[in-house]
Amino acid sequence: MTIREIRVTPVAFRDPPLLNAAGVHEPWALRTIVEVVTDEGLTGLGETYGDLGHLGKVRECAKSLIGLDVHDMNTMYARIGAIVGGVVSDLHGLTGAATKEKSVDRVFAAFEVACLDIRGKAAGVPVVDLLGGKARDAVPYSAYLFYKWAGHPGEEPDRFGAALDEAGIVEQAALLIKEYGFQSIKLKGGVFPPDQEIAAIKALREAFPGMPLRLDPNAVWSVETSIRVGRELEGTLQYLEDPTAEISGMSEVAAAVPMPLATNMCVVTPEHLPPAIASRAIGVLLLDHHYWGGLVRSSHIATLCDTFGLSLSMHSNSHLGISLAAMTHLAAATPNLTFACDTHTPWQDGQDVVVPGSLRFVDGAVPVPAGPGLGVELDRDALARMNEQYEKCGIVARDDTTYMQRFEPGFTARKPRW
Ligand SMILES: [Mg+2]
Repeated sequence: MTIREIRVTPVAFRDPPLLNAAGVHEPWALRTIVEVVTDEGLTGLGETYGDLGHLGKVRECAKSLIGLDVHDMNTMYARIGAIVGGVVSDLHGLTGAATKEKSVDRVFAAFEVACLDIRGKAAGVPVVDLLGGKARDAVPYSAYLFYKWAGHPGEEPDRFGAALDEAGIVEQAALLIKEYGFQSIKLKGGVFPPDQEIAAIKALREAFPGMPLRLDPNAVWSVETSIRVGRELEGTLQYLEDPTAEISGMSEVAAAVPMPLATNMCVVTPEHLPPAIASRAIGVLLLDHHYWGGLVRSSHIATLCDTFGLSLSMHSNSHLGISLAAMTHLAAATPNLTFACDTHTPWQDGQDVVVPGSLRFVDGAVPVPAGPGLGVELDRDALARMNEQYEKCGIVARDDTTYMQRFEPGFTARKPRW
């Protein structure tokens, strides 16, 4: 099963004005869709970031993989490593520091997922079976709440409306829970002064008693602020995600607050694990196969976490159905991934590049797609439409900060802000 052709297609889809520490989501989110085709005519799907620098590397690497067998992941990784060469940064910084290894892993992941899709199809088994088999039949996701504007400036409000205070956040949670059945809640913080976000968590606790809650301010708090907030939220949070920057800062906070700390910012590549484990900086790692080098490498990281007593959850950026399928297969095959995963799916509000039907939410969980491979099929019309949107939208890299500065000229993404 050798690779005959690889198609790389950038796409854009509508994204609501979701607020975070870096600024605000732009009206269009970008992704890149990868189709790997074998000499036998099997096609595998992958999905990755859409930023232009990354897209360029994906395109360059795609050419170098023609003729490779879909099982030969070591050669694929080496070829991609040689081409990526150095650090490919993103502008938003919301998934931590860029390193050379992480840059290679980010490019490799899309091709690896596509090859696993092909291998599953060839063997007639779902990808979860290639990763060790199902530890669970359905993967729970959390309601991922955001402070948000009613609509993008100059546009009509979207159907989610504004969420700029406790009441708005509780209302948003109720809507997402009603539509998807979520049984855990995560609030993206780092937007308002910490006391306002503490009040939002307390309001969620009152409105949804017993529902696990998390707060993620994307490292905009100082160590002192993080410790104060952590202590004030004792008994309320399942975990506190990236309150402050760097492994050293997280380690200081972890020693002083009652709940575990989680991260998708200070531990984002294998070289971060030894110092984070040695300094007890985190209790929960948010896996993300898009930058941990695909599904198999993520499984290896999960095993390491088990060895060292770290729990697992899963991180998400704005994504489409190929990624949701890949995330679901990985989480289903990872016994120690016991926290509900993050997903931006509700914010895509039905926009997708996959044919509807194979992915659905039942009581907040996605049943593992049953078909061979990833179990999802590309919707060619949707792909063409979203590619056209990409060509027209005028955005080539995610930049929440510059977009925010259009409306709040004094805004900076400085850390710590509080
Ligand atoms: Mg996070």
